[in-house]
Amino acid sequence: MTSFGFLGLGIMGKAMAVNLVKAGFDVTVWNRNPEKTTELVALGAKQGTTPKDVAAQCDITFAMVSDPAAALAICQGPDGVAAGIGEGRGYIDMSTVDDTTSTLIAQTIAQAGGRFLEAPVSGTKKPAEDGTLIILAAGDKSLYDDALPAFDVMGKMAPYLGEIGQGANMKLVVNMMMGGMLSIFSEGMSLGQKAGLQGEQILEVIAAGAITNPMFTGKGAMLLAENYTTSFPLKHMQKDMRLAVALGDKLDLPLPTAAIANESFKQAIKAGYADEDIVAIYKVVK
Ligand code: NAP
Repeated sequence: MTSFGFLGLGIMGKAMAVNLVKAGFDVTVWNRNPEKTTELVALGAKQGTTPKDVAAQCDITFAMVSDPAAALAICQGPDGVAAGIGEGRGYIDMSTVDDTTSTLIAQTIAQAGGRFLEAPVSGTKKPAEDGTLIILAAGDKSLYDDALPAFDVMGKMAPYLGEIGQGANMKLVVNMMMGGMLSIFSEGMSLGQKAGLQGEQILEVIAAGAITNPMFTGKGAMLLAENYTTSFPLKHMQKDMRLAVALGDKLDLPLPTAAIANESFKQAIKAGYADEDIVAIYKVVK
């Protein structure tokens, strides 16, 4: 049986690793703060000591960490994945990063003899728990094929998108639109209520019409309840907006709407909401 490693047990990584363990796979976990491995070990996972150790022990190692700096930190250096991966083993980074970071990681792994796939995900905490993520894979096709049994457990679809960078780019497209939508949604909800409309009625009207979508429904209920319990940390959404705007710069494509939404998320971080859910952007708008 293929053995799997899992690095990074935050909101998403923990739920994804739990599903792999519950599906009966042989899983070794590692997290920078080792306390987060306790629940996984209790469920039957093995504990790895470093990313290098996990990559050396497992046929395929997954990672799910915060941002480009974290993704590079666990890959490079004497204790990094590249130092342990060896010939033929696989590394799949599921963190949301930009194509430049992903390309650098791909080169580092290839130089060490390993195979690399990027596979960021669309979907938040609940889809991660339910195993219904959308997995956006690109890179080594043989590794993609080998990882499909794990993708089946973690997600509801896993399109193969081609060359390294295309998974990262697809993810940034989706999240850039999500951040922009959430920003204008917060403004609409604020404007309507300031004008004397009932928040619930605004949501009902939206839900019945052409602009309805699951995010407005889910985040709308949270927003009215002033419930900012973290499912997707706001700081990570700002990181995604920043990376999408930078991709626009690189491709010489103006993205004025995304750039303004990025500024709203930066304001929310400045106001102290970095670790709250993305819906906390509403607090700075209202
Ligand atoms: P999170 O709860 O903040 O977890 C972040 C993880 O990254 C933790 O395990 C953390 O370790 C680790 N980490 C951070 N910096 C590190 C470093 N320098 N070295 C090693 N490990 C480091 O974040 P999350 O919500 O699970 O998100 C993880 C990734 O998935 C992000 O790229 C995010 O954009 C993406 N994503 C999130 C969602 C969502 O809804 N939450 C949805 C889709 C995609 P410690 O525990 O030691 O801090």
